[in-house]
Amino acid sequence: VNSDKELAMLRERIAEKTLNIIRMVGERNELARKIGHIKARNSLPIHDEETEMALFDMVAEECARAEVSAEAGFKILNSLLAESKRVQGVSSEQQLETPMQSFRKAEEMQTRGVDLIRLDVGEPDFKPPEKVVQACIDALKNFKTHYTVTRGIPELLESLTLYLKRKWNSDISTDQTIVTSGGRFAVYAGLASVLKEGESAIVIDPSWPAYKQAITYIGARPLVINTRFEDGWNPSLEAIKKMIRNNTRAIVLNYPNNPTGKVLDTSTFNSIIDIANDRNLVVMSDETYIDYSFNKCSSVLESNAKNYICIGSFSKTWAMTGFRVGYAISSIDVINKMAMIASLMLTSVPEFVQYAAIAALDCDEEALVNSATIKERADTICQHIEKIANMEVYRPDGAMYVFPRFRSVVGARGFSDKLLKEKHVSITSGTAFGNYPDHFRISLGRSKELLIEGLKRIGDVLN
Ligand code: PMP
Repeated sequence: VNSDKELAMLRERIAEKTLNIIRMVGERNELARKIGHIKARNSLPIHDEETEMALFDMVAEECARAEVSAEAGFKILNSLLAESKRVQGVSSEQQLETPMQSFRKAEEMQTRGVDLIRLDVGEPDFKPPEKVVQACIDALKNFKTHYTVTRGIPELLESLTLYLKRKWNSDISTDQTIVTSGGRFAVYAGLASVLKEGESAIVIDPSWPAYKQAITYIGARPLVINTRFEDGWNPSLEAIKKMIRNNTRAIVLNYPNNPTGKVLDTSTFNSIIDIANDRNLVVMSDETYIDYSFNKCSSVLESNAKNYICIGSFSKTWAMTGFRVGYAISSIDVINKMAMIASLMLTSVPEFVQYAAIAALDCDEEALVNSATIKERADTICQHIEKIANMEVYRPDGAMYVFPRFRSVVGARGFSDKLLKEKHVSITSGTAFGNYPDHFRISLGRSKELLIEGLKRIGDVLN
């Protein structure tokens, strides 16, 4: 009877504490609202990274004192920050701008029958190798039409691992390999496997938007390092070191880079790996464009990274975007976690697609031709851009994009709208990849003729 009474009393107190916390969140929201008003009056940005990061440090310390797990503390702080933004009138979607908006506009015009030059789409106009198509047809005719083990059929895991071992002289096993629905799913599943809510990961801008979006979706925080055209898109090693917090778990690298075409020199790449090793970060190296490198591009598979996730894709190398097949290489533990997510969401990559992928691994010739074609387009386009008075461009070392900028202020967002409306050319504004309003991205996945015509119209709008 006594225990019953005591239990009831304790439960009552717990309920009271819980409700107290909620009431305090209400009071905190009130303060956030006041801050929002002051910021609005003074046109200050709502998001203040420094202040938020300082809060994370204070919360970590308080957690230690109060014997609360840091994980729980970070989750709570995350929710509080989301509340602040809500009462200040910012939704999480508003904070993230994606190329989807301009993409949709262009699609909509095309369905209305407008003839557009699409320089915004990130896929090559090449055909997949004949051998790949044939292998896919054969697989279908042999009824390779079933579910497979989530990580991929053993034949593909074998040939993929062998292919990468040879290519990078790397000591990896099939247990460290997973075949995924495109590199995109590998990026999400990889990040979700190494990041928990409230933790953080470093992203180097300009960047493919999916990294920041995935990190945010997981409830973690992207810590952004900005690189600049003036610095040849080289990240500052000091800035990276300074950015790492106690709750930072990973750094995302993407070379050759979408959108800049940058490839890091080997020594810079290795220095970043050293920093990551030093601070126990997982290096997620997205090597989707590595076969479109015009100079040597280091792979994380040939580095001495202690913890890494290497992301690869069949999409660009062999022009297989619609097959939706990519892969990841990591530790057995991370691969198992990724497989759990893939199993929950997708079961497996279609069986016949996996047979097509095996065939692709035997198509070095086609990959070389594709890469040379992209390189030739890059050269031609850069020559043209350099002739436009108001524009300058970093000559890409790889990938399939150029990311020029205006010498004087034009504003890529308004510019791309105008270009689309008046000249029927779609590009992606630099703001999709970070804080780059003076830049825009042109995809080299279109014929030289279309690219040249597109650039001519860009020049017309500028003049
Ligand atoms: N990483 C980068 C940098 C990309 O640009 C893309 C495609 N746009 C991907 C990964 C994913 O490609 P996929 O899912 O087709 O393999």
